[in-house]
Amino acid sequence: MDPWSSSNILDEDYERLINEFGIERISDIMRQKLLKNRFIRRKIIFGHRSLEDIFKAVEKKEPWAVMSGIKPSGPFHLGTLTTALEIVEFQKLGGKAYYCIADIESWEDNGIPYEEAGETSVDNLADILALGLDPSPKKAYIWRQSKEDIVKDVCFKVGRLLTLNMVNAIYGEKPFGLYLAALIQVGDIILPQVLDGVQPTVVPVGIDQDPHIRLTRDLTRRYYKEIKKNGKIIQQEFFLPGATYHKLLPGLDGSDKMSKRNPNSYFTFNESFESIEKKIKGAVTGGRRNKKEQQELGGEPQKCMIYKILMYHFEDDDDKLAEDFEKCVKGELLCGEHKRDCIEKVLKYIKEHRKKKEKLIDKAREILKVE
Ligand code: SF4
Repeated sequence: MDPWSSSNILDEDYERLINEFGIERISDIMRQKLLKNRFIRRKIIFGHRSLEDIFKAVEKKEPWAVMSGIKPSGPFHLGTLTTALEIVEFQKLGGKAYYCIADIESWEDNGIPYEEAGETSVDNLADILALGLDPSPKKAYIWRQSKEDIVKDVCFKVGRLLTLNMVNAIYGEKPFGLYLAALIQVGDIILPQVLDGVQPTVVPVGIDQDPHIRLTRDLTRRYYKEIKKNGKIIQQEFFLPGATYHKLLPGLDGSDKMSKRNPNSYFTFNESFESIEKKIKGAVTGGRRNKKEQQELGGEPQKCMIYKILMYHFEDDDDKLAEDFEKCVKGELLCGEHKRDCIEKVLKYIKEHRKKKEKLIDKAREILKVE
C-alpha cells in the first residue's frame, strides 16, 4: 500500500490486507455500540486497531481523542468527505477532535507553497465545519503543520529512531521530503497525547493510509514523555494510537481510484452543478447492455458507482438503500431512473452544504489565522 499513489484496492483484497497487516475486524459487539455511525453500520469501515481502548475510555468517562486531517492541495471532494464525516461522528460520541492541515505534506508531495495552501485550507476547513465539526476549544484543536511546533519537535525526536532501511521497507523508495512528511504525521497523530496528556486516540483513515499508522505505532512504542512526579523525572508511556479503516471509493468513471490526475473520476464540492451532473451521468454502473437484458438478468449493484456513492454519502435511509439493491438485482430498477434520483440527491446535498459553508469561511480564516 502506498499512501501517496493512486493504486486501487479491489474488494477481494481487503481480506488479504487484514491478514497480512494484522488489522482487526470490527466485531458484532463493536458494531452494535456504533450503530449510529453509517460507515460502521454499512460495513464501509471494516477494520481497526486498538478501538477497544476508546470503548474503555468511554465506559470510564476518561478523555480520548479522534485525530484526522486534510492535505490542502485542492477543494473538498468525494474522497475526503468520508474521513471528514468520520471525525465528526467520533466527536459526537464524546472524543475531542484534533484536526490537522497537512500543508507540509502538500509542499513535499505537490510542491504547493504554504501561503497558497493557506487559502485552500480556509476553504477545506469551512467544509468540515459545515459538515458539523464543533471547533470550540474544549471539543477541538485545529492546526497547520507548518505553524505547529509540537509536530516538528516530534519529527526531530523520532527521526533518530529510524533508518533508511526501515522507511524503505514501509514506503518503498520515495523523495526524502515524503519521508519527512511521514514523520511530521507521526507528530500529528501523537499530538493529542503530547498536548493534552496520555489518552487513547483513534485515527479514521482509508486503508491506503495504514503505512502511516504502522509507522506511528512502531515509533510510539519507543517514544515517551518525561514528566515530573514527586520531584522525580519519570518516563510516561503513550497509548499506541488506534485507527479505523474504511474501504476506498473507486473512480466514478470506472478508473482505479478517485484521483486529481483524472477529473472524471470524482467531483469536488466547489464544482458547477452542470459538471457534477455530467460526471454522475457518465459514471459506471453495474447495469446491462439494454433495458431488456437488465429486466431479464438484473443489474449488479455491488459493481455500481451510483449505488456506491449513495451508500457512502447521499442516501440516508438504510431501508431505501436495501430496497434499491433488491430491485436492481431483480431487474426492477433501471439505471437511467436511478441516476436521475442520485443526481437529485447529490445536488440537494451540495446546495445545502454550500449554504452552511458560506457562513463559516470567516470562522475558518480566524481559526487558521489566515489573513
Ligand atoms: S439500477 Fe442502479 S444500482 Fe443497479 S446497476 Fe443501475 S444504477 Fe446501479
